[in-house]
Amino acid sequence: MLNKANIVALAEKILGLKKEKKAIILAHNYQRLEVQDIADYVGDSIELSRKAMNEQEAELIVFAAVDFMAESAAILNPSKKVLLPSLGARCPMAQMLTVDEIKRWKVLYPLLPVVLYVNTLASAKAYCDVCCTSANAVEVIESLDAETVLFGPDRNLAEYVEKKTGKKIIPIPERGFCPTHLLFQPEDVQLLKAKHPNAVALVHPECSLEMREIADFVGSTSQMCRYARESSARTFVVATEEGLLHRLRKDNPDKQFILAYEGAVCPNMKLTTLEKLYAALKEEKHVVTVPDAVARQGRKALDRMFEITA
Ligand code: SF4
Repeated sequence: MLNKANIVALAEKILGLKKEKKAIILAHNYQRLEVQDIADYVGDSIELSRKAMNEQEAELIVFAAVDFMAESAAILNPSKKVLLPSLGARCPMAQMLTVDEIKRWKVLYPLLPVVLYVNTLASAKAYCDVCCTSANAVEVIESLDAETVLFGPDRNLAEYVEKKTGKKIIPIPERGFCPTHLLFQPEDVQLLKAKHPNAVALVHPECSLEMREIADFVGSTSQMCRYARESSARTFVVATEEGLLHRLRKDNPDKQFILAYEGAVCPNMKLTTLEKLYAALKEEKHVVTVPDAVARQGRKALDRMFEITA
């Protein structure tokens, strides 16, 4: 574990290397605080990949996140080298939807469109019609000329979208989930709201139905940030991975943010440390590549999402 002086020294070395190599550092909202603090941009995965697209000068992207996010960045930025500082940083929910599983559902329902959450591997994206994020899933599904849709891999997001759109959503696989968001329990939120009667509960759609039902606001990380900024409330109970609270507190120093469950930590997101980030940047190692055919198909699904939500 680095002490404060070591963190500052390592951060300076990273910033020096970054300049020398014309790199940009992107950090997902769930990253460690010191990793967020050194990044050029902090945000959700697609927000970050699009930021990178606008960085014409950058030749190297260091993406402090998990596997599928770096893959999306590689698909959307084919002329740039994308590095994932920790190769072990894999999202368990993305792993739950394999290509074979998608093919199985397509055989069962050959006429239905397949919509995949961006939290999927590139190989899966290549088999879908359109991607979505948790922020735009409702808009994407509503835009489709179909009353029934195959949707994966998060079952909770599928249920949330079904309720919002009134369309029939068939979850693929049947029970895909984010282990971190399933840790939140309504009783914990109720206890916190009893202690802070004016607090507003912000809940991520990957949480359970019971959690969504007691929420004052359900939304993605970027939607939570906007809601907190624009709200006149002073106290918020937040049900998403703990890393987002760093950004919320930085952006709203006059407001109070309380994590709805102290153990809500995504161990995969936390695998990226400053030391690993430095090593990846220095040696330009852990390059994320996506085979051309997969990237072409995945890009189509992502571009369709961008067209719908433009
Ligand atoms: S928080 Fe959940 S969805 Fe996000 S990377 Fe971790 S396991 Fe995957």
